[in-house]
Amino acid sequence: MLRVNGERLWQSLMDMATIGATEKGGCNRQALTDEDGRGRALFIQWCKEAGCQVRVDQMGNIFVRRPGTDATAPAVITGSHLDTQPTGGRFDGVYGVLAGLEVIRSLNDQQIETRHSLEVVVWTNEEGVRFSPAMIGSGVWCGEFDLDYGWSRTDKQGVNIKQALAQQGYLGEHPCQPSSVKAAFELHIEQGPILEREQQQIGVVKGVQGMRWYDLTITGVPIHAGPTPMEQRQDPFMGLADIIRQLYQLAKSLAPLARVTFGDIKALPGSRNTVPEQLVLAIDLRHPDQARLTKMDAELRKISADVCQSYGLSADIHDEWNSPAVAFDEHCVEAVRAAVTEHGYSHLEMFSGAGHDSVYVSRVVPTSMIFIPCEKGISHNEAENITVEDAIAGCNVLLGAMLNSASRVDS
Ligand SMILES: [Zn+2]
Repeated sequence: MLRVNGERLWQSLMDMATIGATEKGGCNRQALTDEDGRGRALFIQWCKEAGCQVRVDQMGNIFVRRPGTDATAPAVITGSHLDTQPTGGRFDGVYGVLAGLEVIRSLNDQQIETRHSLEVVVWTNEEGVRFSPAMIGSGVWCGEFDLDYGWSRTDKQGVNIKQALAQQGYLGEHPCQPSSVKAAFELHIEQGPILEREQQQIGVVKGVQGMRWYDLTITGVPIHAGPTPMEQRQDPFMGLADIIRQLYQLAKSLAPLARVTFGDIKALPGSRNTVPEQLVLAIDLRHPDQARLTKMDAELRKISADVCQSYGLSADIHDEWNSPAVAFDEHCVEAVRAAVTEHGYSHLEMFSGAGHDSVYVSRVVPTSMIFIPCEKGISHNEAENITVEDAIAGCNVLLGAMLNSASRVDS
């Protein structure tokens, strides 16, 4: 059974982590800064040493190609991002990119050819720290945003992405759009606590949960807190208490995958001896199954309307954001599953709770993801950590899944 060179993979991770290294052992390589530029340069140097062809597109996404024996066959790609949070860790994104490189290095070592070309991608500005929104490189590539929108995103100093790309030498000429791709895989740390808690080594990721954000405004009648009897009030908080209880009940009825979060609340005018006229509540609903998420959306509207009516209040729901659930491609998920089974790793079928470049990539090419555990589920933090064993296991699964899809050529 084919395995990667785990020592080399780990050494590459540690070498990359020296660029933008922070005092507390993390990394600060924000998108298209000098640190990101140095990280990209090191990656490209390694890829050229591995004999790969390198191309850069108009959004600075880097594609590294190991040609297959059939130049007309669509490529099998893998990738993630090299940019980090300001106090980021050493593995978020970077692990997926360098594992892709290790797959190529291992195939070179063992002189194995594939019919389909293999490519490793570095997506620009995944984190969305310096430039908003997040995942802009993959977003333009898949057509979610147009190129001018991508180029015009501006940081706090007034530098836009096009200027930053030019400064770092990554304003490429290749069109930022899908080339011919057969399958895409992204290997990533879980960024959550489930694999560690369940003591499983690999997450076979079947999709990404859908998310909907709302502002619920409940309007009543402001009135004096002292003289007004309780039963004569149109108090938005009375409605809110019922609404929150019913929505938690809804989450319980759809356990364990549903998520309901109330992250912010404003009371207007905000005086301690007046019943508020208005409450504005931020609501976040999530579920990996789009039909269930749609049901949660309908329930939210019904509960809010019914409760408010019973208290003589009015309810208004503003839709702030809607990110539909993603179901990954069955064949890609199966290729991962087969690789896991081949190696005999313990594993869990799961959904991603966080957004990834694969959300956009999956809209245009067959895609799936692989997770490995991260210590205590901590990420976006300098303390982010993984074990060498898990890093190697994930990379072996990536190698197997890519080889399953790219058709090994027996010489
Ligand atoms: Zn990431």
